[in-house]
Amino acid sequence: MNKKVLFAILATVIIIGAIIGAFAVSKFFGEEKKLIIIDFDTAAARENVERLIENGPRMSGSEAEELGAKYIVSKYEEAGLSDCHIEKFSVNMFDVHRAEVSLVQYGPLLRVPNPMVSEITFTHFEDFVLQGYSGSYTWQTFRDDLEVVVIGNGTDPTSYDIAQGKACIIEVEENSPGNTDVYEYANDAGVKAIVLHNLWRGSDVGYPPMFKTNQAYEDWSGGFPEIPFFMISREGGVTMKQHLSDSKLRLDFDVEKGPMDICVAVGEIPGSESTDKLFVIGGHHDTCYNTLGVVDNTVGPALICEMAAQMAKYKPKYTIRFCTWGGEEEGLYGSLAYFDEHKDELVGNVKMYSNFDMSHTDITRTNGFTITTSINSSIKTFEKIRDKVVSSTSELDKYNINIRWDDGKWSGSDQWPFASHDIDVTNAWGGGCYEYHTYMDDITHLNEESLQIGARIVGSYIINEAC
Ligand SMILES: [Zn+2]
Repeated sequence: MNKKVLFAILATVIIIGAIIGAFAVSKFFGEEKKLIIIDFDTAAARENVERLIENGPRMSGSEAEELGAKYIVSKYEEAGLSDCHIEKFSVNMFDVHRAEVSLVQYGPLLRVPNPMVSEITFTHFEDFVLQGYSGSYTWQTFRDDLEVVVIGNGTDPTSYDIAQGKACIIEVEENSPGNTDVYEYANDAGVKAIVLHNLWRGSDVGYPPMFKTNQAYEDWSGGFPEIPFFMISREGGVTMKQHLSDSKLRLDFDVEKGPMDICVAVGEIPGSESTDKLFVIGGHHDTCYNTLGVVDNTVGPALICEMAAQMAKYKPKYTIRFCTWGGEEEGLYGSLAYFDEHKDELVGNVKMYSNFDMSHTDITRTNGFTITTSINSSIKTFEKIRDKVVSSTSELDKYNINIRWDDGKWSGSDQWPFASHDIDVTNAWGGGCYEYHTYMDDITHLNEESLQIGARIVGSYIINEAC
């Protein structure tokens, strides 16, 4: 081979290599440039939280819930969203009008109260919390006071038999059955009142009483049994047990149950090309009746309002709809009712539903944050977006943000109506909440900087897909 030919081959190789290289570089940078990352104002999100908790717990069906929904709609309007409105749904709900619990010391053989000893009064929310759809109990005379027996962890239906005509204390631990089963066992055995003694939940914050719902009301055919049903703190339960032989339980509960109106707050960025294909972003705006529910789930609607403000700056091809739900804590009533009402419009058209429930991390306790997606092939893009968000936001360095697959086919939050119809879903949740479903879930634990994690990563993914 002569030098000229060798030079020609070498030159050709270099030129081809340069072209391929330049192409690869431009493709790489082109792709990077294409990836849009949305902004997020953490101070604005914090203000949303503060405004939303102003009216107290947003118990589903209450005035505070409706005021919360109105605030959310006003923020949608401020962001320039279209079709901002509240949809109301009538669902089976409850409203606690009165709840009093005390322990009254009796004389010999528990015949009459001992007038020399004052009763031990337990404080609503701090010492005890009613469970969902608790029965009412009207106290009129001391004859309505109840003897109390301890029946163990509640798993064995026959263990309830000794509590016939009395109040039973169930020692709640990991294996204890859920409220719906407990209610049915207690009813079958003729139990007069159910006391859940919390020996398991909230170990980091002193085992406070916690709200959980009770699906029994929904499933019951015929007359629903009026069995008062509450959880007592570990300390309160210990006090009760010390007085089993000399005291009786005095209850006075007025719990209204039946159809009540709950709200869904809706607004959207209409798609420029296709208004029937849509992304839906949602989270519940209600809280349990006993708490402001800052982490569960005031942060959800607070960050959704801020996402709406940021995402409205773009002109997506597909519609992006924002929905916040009432009725979640008692059984996903808002999202189920809305989905049912809009089924024809949603099935086959929703490209992805993104849920935000407890999308918050208390950095003084943990640095974990998890985003799940039901689209396996989206994980790489989510990770790219995550890396870009974190590298441009130094305060997010300390968080461990994990992205993984999950189909969302479980009924613990509002992705369920969508996932159960084979619609792709994402969830974004942080490091949990020690104060979950207790009166202690208040503003003191809010870490607004963590609200941008799920909002920006999922929001950016949607903007990139929808634009
Ligand atoms: Zn929640």
